[in-house]
Amino acid sequence: MLNSNQFSMLSPEILFDISYGIYIVTSRDGDTQCGFVSNTVMQVTSSPIQIVTMVSKNNYSCSIIEKSEKFNISVLSKDVSKELVSTFGYKSGKDIDKFESLSYETDSRGLPYFKQGTVAMLSCNVVRVIDFGTHLMFVGEVVNGEKTVEGKVITYKDFREIFKAASPKNAPTFQQKLNQVKMEKDLYVCNLCGYVYDPEVGDPDSGIAPGTPFEDIPNTWVCPICGVDKSNFSKK
Ligand code: FE
Repeated sequence: MLNSNQFSMLSPEILFDISYGIYIVTSRDGDTQCGFVSNTVMQVTSSPIQIVTMVSKNNYSCSIIEKSEKFNISVLSKDVSKELVSTFGYKSGKDIDKFESLSYETDSRGLPYFKQGTVAMLSCNVVRVIDFGTHLMFVGEVVNGEKTVEGKVITYKDFREIFKAASPKNAPTFQQKLNQVKMEKDLYVCNLCGYVYDPEVGDPDSGIAPGTPFEDIPNTWVCPICGVDKSNFSKK
């Protein structure tokens, strides 16, 4: 069995070949709402319909789901906004109110979920919790569900491409070798979320024009995905 240190001797890109969807898992305990982006949601039985999700014990949502014994799954689409992913993916509910500036719905149990940027939602009651050391696995029985907006489901691979998270390397061909040289020369990677700044593309949403070298970006600029500043970027 490989542990994480031993695995570093192998190519970590192997793991990127495993396919996942991307979801926002939400819950509420009393007046406290929580939610986070997850790629580990899976249906495990059909009668009754049960799904599982893994939650880090360090995640603010973990204790809230444990207490409330309820959670919702919002199934994200390719139309999901950068703001929704950024807020729920890389920030902690301990530090900010993630729901403050985003529109969301509330189900009949009082739990939040999202319509914009999603294709479906599922309401679940926790029927079992399994301890995996660093994470808890919540087994949820689906008690309700609805289609939200017409759209295409986003996969983990799409997510990495659309939001420019570090993309997996492919077999070494000439073209790919060229790309590798380009990456080593020009690209900067966010140490926290893996977002890759490409000077050819810039970050027009944040006012950084295409063609702007990383060195010329103002120090006030922050990672468009997770919000950390320039000092958290490393040259590829
Ligand atoms: Fe980032």
